[in-house]
Amino acid sequence: MDTIIIDGTAIARGVRESVTRDVDAFVSRTGTRPGLATVLVGDDPASQVYVRNKRRQAASAGIADFHRHLDADATAADIDGEIDRLAADTAVSGILLQLPLPEGIDSSSSIERIPWFKDVDGLTTTSVGLLARGRPGLQPCTPSGVITLLDAAGIDLAGREAVVVGRSELVGRPVAQMLQARNATVTVVHSRTRNAQAIMRRADILVVAAGVPHLVGRDDVAEGAAVIDVGIHRGTAGLIGDVRFDELLGHAGYLTPVPGGVGPMTIAELLRNTLKAAELAPTSG
Ligand code: NAP
Repeated sequence: MDTIIIDGTAIARGVRESVTRDVDAFVSRTGTRPGLATVLVGDDPASQVYVRNKRRQAASAGIADFHRHLDADATAADIDGEIDRLAADTAVSGILLQLPLPEGIDSSSSIERIPWFKDVDGLTTTSVGLLARGRPGLQPCTPSGVITLLDAAGIDLAGREAVVVGRSELVGRPVAQMLQARNATVTVVHSRTRNAQAIMRRADILVVAAGVPHLVGRDDVAEGAAVIDVGIHRGTAGLIGDVRFDELLGHAGYLTPVPGGVGPMTIAELLRNTLKAAELAPTSG
């Protein structure tokens, strides 16, 4: 069978273009510009690259930049103070605290200070609760990107059997809830699941977010299934995913590559969330 490769790079570009148009329309309508505050603490090189990419892509979508950089020796109180100032600033639509924080600082209490309508990472308890209850709010970016990829590929979710490998707060759990909200029948597989292979083989849609390089291969996947690989690992030959891509070519019906699959979607969804945050803001017209 021919495997359709889902091109995340192209789909993410389409999302960014659509957000850019919608930001323009928002500015014309309200006279205010959506703004994104990225908060980076310390000098972790990978975090610096992620934040730079987020700021650059936000700027090219017409989103105002409110970057804050705190020294590596910043205290939890320093971080909380910065978040409180950004929370009170009506020019700031969305606040993103780049994780991980330097060792010894617990991120969860700082995250909880972000108002739900500025929580563009969808990580506060309120955002998690809104998603669980199926109420409008800001949803985490990588899981939203998974759903956008499935939609863009024209894959029907209603009534289909979806299996999610992984139950993390960041990816597995929210993506399972989003699939269920779209009327898929969802099973979550995790490290303690018995007979995981038999469960994965039932899936019409298999989302793999285990964080284990090359975990899933041909024997784990039903012929014709749609396979979304969320994993990213830096191997000796470049980036690889949780799925053995080559084994699934000619076997899966749809497949995302790594790189160029879920990866580019995360920032595109962040831009979409920032615009949504501007629309949710109590002060916006
Ligand atoms: P995580 O917090 O480490 O969670 C991994 C989950 O997978 C856990 O629930 C774990 O089960 C489960 N798991 C581990 N080994 C398993 C196995 N052998 N069989 C079945 N389940 C297994 O990871 P994460 O934050 O969700 O990230 C997952 C992957 O996605 C990572 O490679 C990460 O780099 C990538 N990622 C990519 C993006 C992107 O932008 N593309 C964004 C975020 C994450 P237990 O709960 O039982 O421990």
